[in-house]
Amino acid sequence: MHRMRVLALAAVVAGAAFVPATTTAPLSSAAPPPCSEEPRENPISEFTSYDELLVELDRIERVSAGRVVVEKIGESNRGRDMLLARVGTGPKVVLITAEIHGNEKTGPDAALDIIDYLGTSNSAHARRIREQLTVVAMPKINPDAGALDRRGNDMTWEEAQARFPQLATAQAPWNYYTEPRQGDDYSQRPGFDVNRDYNPDLDYQPQPQDFPGASDKPGWFISPETQAVRDVYRSLRDEFGAVDTYIDLHHQGACYTVPGTDRFVTMSLSGKFVADPATPEGSAYAEFADTFRPEYSKQLNVAAYNALQAAANQNPDFGNITLYPQDTNLPGTGLGSFQLNGSGAVLFEVRGQTQNLGEQHRGMLTRTVYIGLDGILSSIASGQVDNLDPADYDRIPPTDRGQQAKSAITEIE
Ligand SMILES: [Zn+2]
Repeated sequence: MHRMRVLALAAVVAGAAFVPATTTAPLSSAAPPPCSEEPRENPISEFTSYDELLVELDRIERVSAGRVVVEKIGESNRGRDMLLARVGTGPKVVLITAEIHGNEKTGPDAALDIIDYLGTSNSAHARRIREQLTVVAMPKINPDAGALDRRGNDMTWEEAQARFPQLATAQAPWNYYTEPRQGDDYSQRPGFDVNRDYNPDLDYQPQPQDFPGASDKPGWFISPETQAVRDVYRSLRDEFGAVDTYIDLHHQGACYTVPGTDRFVTMSLSGKFVADPATPEGSAYAEFADTFRPEYSKQLNVAAYNALQAAANQNPDFGNITLYPQDTNLPGTGLGSFQLNGSGAVLFEVRGQTQNLGEQHRGMLTRTVYIGLDGILSSIASGQVDNLDPADYDRIPPTDRGQQAKSAITEIE
């Protein structure tokens, strides 16, 4: 069920509504502004629902004639199946996750598209990827949030404490939502931003003194959703020795622009989530200095960027790609935790979440994600990724966030 959004949220969205500098229409005019971050109730029926995901994965598995294997690897807090689809027999593993924030819905569709293609195409391109890589996609890693079309999962702190009795006296974590956010009312149905629940120590068990934590601190694997992703990552590492690449698919604000232009950013990329553990800033994670490969993350991002610039010949929107803010320090994200463990890591941040952009541009934005994913897979499979210049990453244009650039430290959206 799609719940009504709470619209009277001036305090929550204060400073979020923003009109690009090139816009002349004042906000008070009768016509709606050309771009707004104001939360709205938008339809989402064109995106793949949880029930449709089950049907689609089953279909892909059947038509792939054994190439695609679908596996249940756990259950969400409200009992929805956590599913992965695996295709390819190659020695390098690429793990793709999507919709950890349930209002960010192009990722599942693009992940399904690429698994469908790799599972059914007899092209030389698909064959090479299948031979060189093992691609594991988890299209909906927060299905309860996806069903509610909101950022946070559907879980109370009391439920977490019941699962981890040692937390009986601990403070509720900082990323526990009980108040309105992005137009969603969490007061009756609280939840966590589970994209801060990861920990670089994949064997970590929650300890009361590690709460309430903070955005620049690791998480605790208290949610069944992050536990499932962690378990998949760990088992792939055991099977292959390493998870070569980890890609996490998100959405960001709807009104960011390419610097010096009035073009909205179609997607931002990043390969930087935590400070280098070999430097003083990253000393808290010094034990990961040997596995950390920031240059490889940059090369993977360049592969996605180059593929999208090439596709801009078909549609100029594919070329409006920027670098996500690089001032992040987020060891509690899957990207930060897995990057410290040695994976090349890539963040996709597509334009606009459901509360502002809804289904607008759905086809183009999903295609953008697909092209970026295909660019990365192709580049690893051919070995070309090793020839890409990490310095090209630093030449990707930054994101013009307008007024929102004033916020202190960037969160992953
Ligand atoms: Zn997100």
